[in-house]
Amino acid sequence: MFLRIWCLYACKLALVCMVLILVGYFMPDAGPWKSVSIVATAILIPVVITGALAAVWACVLRKPVACPSCGTPAKAVMRSQYDIGVECDACGLVHANVLTGLRLKVEPLAIEQENEEREETAAEEPQEPS
Ligand SMILES: [Zn+2]
Repeated sequence: MFLRIWCLYACKLALVCMVLILVGYFMPDAGPWKSVSIVATAILIPVVITGALAAVWACVLRKPVACPSCGTPAKAVMRSQYDIGVECDACGLVHANVLTGLRLKVEPLAIEQENEEREETAAEEPQEPS
């Protein structure tokens, strides 16, 4: 649940807040932009602190994270700088791009694919009679 909220909503909220703060910085002090900028900062700070704590939990301490699809504890993975997710034994690789992804993607794990290929080749090989 945390990862789903984080990937799909919190990171985009942080991005919007950063844009609002930047716009407020260049706007004249008189007007609503100063208030918008302050509110955006007040939202951004707890989001950034939560993200830092989550990164320490999942990446530094290597603690399991609940799979956003089924809730099973799974290993957190970073596929690229902005693409994060988990390797769930039940679902596979569940991930999303934190900046552009609007839905979680579920892909089979690479290890599973290798095992399936190995089983297929083992089944195709003729077995010698003993
Ligand atoms: Zn799962």
